[in-house]
Amino acid sequence: MTENWRDNQEIRIFRDSLRKFLEKEGIPYFNDWEEQRMIPREFWLKMGKNGFLCPWVEEEYGGLGVGFEYSIIISEETMKVGAGMLGIALHSDMVVPYIASYGTQEQKRRWLPKCITGEFVTAIAMSEPGTGSDLAAIKTTSVRAGDFYIVNGSKTFISNGLCSDIVVVACKTEQTNGHKGISLLVVEEGTPGFQRSRKLKKIGLHSQDTAELIFQDCRIPASNLLGEEGQGWKYLMSKLQQERIIVALEAQIMAEGALQLAIDYSKNRTAFGKPISQFQHNAFKVAEMATEVKIGRQFLEHLLINHMKGKDVVTEVSMAKWWITEMCNRVVYQAQQLHGGYGYMEEYEIARYFRDTRAQTMYAGSTEIMKQIIAKKIGLL
Ligand SMILES: Cc1cc2nc3c(=O)[nH]c(=O)nc-3n(C[C@H](O)[C@H](O)[C@H](O)COP(=O)(O)OP(=O)(O)OC[C@H]3O[C@@H](n4cnc5c(N)ncnc54)[C@H](O)[C@@H]3O)c2cc1C
Repeated sequence: MTENWRDNQEIRIFRDSLRKFLEKEGIPYFNDWEEQRMIPREFWLKMGKNGFLCPWVEEEYGGLGVGFEYSIIISEETMKVGAGMLGIALHSDMVVPYIASYGTQEQKRRWLPKCITGEFVTAIAMSEPGTGSDLAAIKTTSVRAGDFYIVNGSKTFISNGLCSDIVVVACKTEQTNGHKGISLLVVEEGTPGFQRSRKLKKIGLHSQDTAELIFQDCRIPASNLLGEEGQGWKYLMSKLQQERIIVALEAQIMAEGALQLAIDYSKNRTAFGKPISQFQHNAFKVAEMATEVKIGRQFLEHLLINHMKGKDVVTEVSMAKWWITEMCNRVVYQAQQLHGGYGYMEEYEIARYFRDTRAQTMYAGSTEIMKQIIAKKIGLL
């Protein structure tokens, strides 16, 4: 993996074909999906048909067997359509990796091909009404009974919660206070005792469905255990790194988009006889935004390469996750301010940015939890 991987001809061709696909199949419909609070399965299937879901999965399961750089391109281009598309990367690069890394041959053959075609959409259920940041404190129980696990509990804020066909569920197979007894089970649509509760009404990310999941004496076949019983914490900590990288990347794309919106608007809007961009205060504001956006991109590019090289990047991932998502919030706020009253109107894209960026500092590990990890790594806590 080299610094100039983005210049690779195959990568460029892949990005171009994805862009063309999204111009035809995504952009014209995105506002409707925001209204409908859901991305239709039809779109997922088209993504799958064109090789845009889980391209990294090995060819024997139907994937393209390509590197993470293709996932980066997909995240970037789908994010440019709208942040409500984040469920795509969540499926391809945050959930399916659990199956590919910890699944048995039988599990991989059963689930992976359909994850690639879009026939199966996935979700990951960690957070519960009583706990989010403190993942070790989850209460959902799972008791082995013959060939089944009987699962009881509830999960909340689950992205793809309604549209998913299979959900990786973090639950406690051993009743300990710490993280030792956590296991990962895959629950399939139609499993007795598995219910999707209400679709949550979010202030943003409207086309992304987010839901509560209920498990009431839910009978999950023991053969749906991912990896080893009691090893769930280790698996989560490992895969959460890529999840956080993707969220940082998504925030970076949004910050770059918001900056461009601010530049375009401020050059065209006039006040007191000149473009508002020509007031030194505003020009300096945009200059500050551009500086922060550039710093974010430089840090991220370095991190992406090290992640692809397989280096231990836990500290840098936490730094990127908190700093870039907070930076995106600052940039979006300033870009909206430059739009004046129009920035508060739905027909201006910046209004959606403002709603959508807010959750980025919260999910996938909040800003505070990222700082806690960094402080621990530095040896302070
Ligand atoms: C749009 C959206 C999508 C989501 N998707 C998913 C999903 O697909 N799957 C899933 O499992 N979860 C998902 N989540 C849940 C998300 O991961 C949690 O909201 C997040 O982990 C925070 O947990 P919490 O909401 O329970 O807040 P809490 O843990 O209750 O934290 C509340 C506040 O206290 C702070 N805090 C907590 N502990 C500390 C500490 N030690 N030091 C300092 N401050 C602290 C937090 O940073 C936060 O500011 C999603 C959330 C949202 C908003």
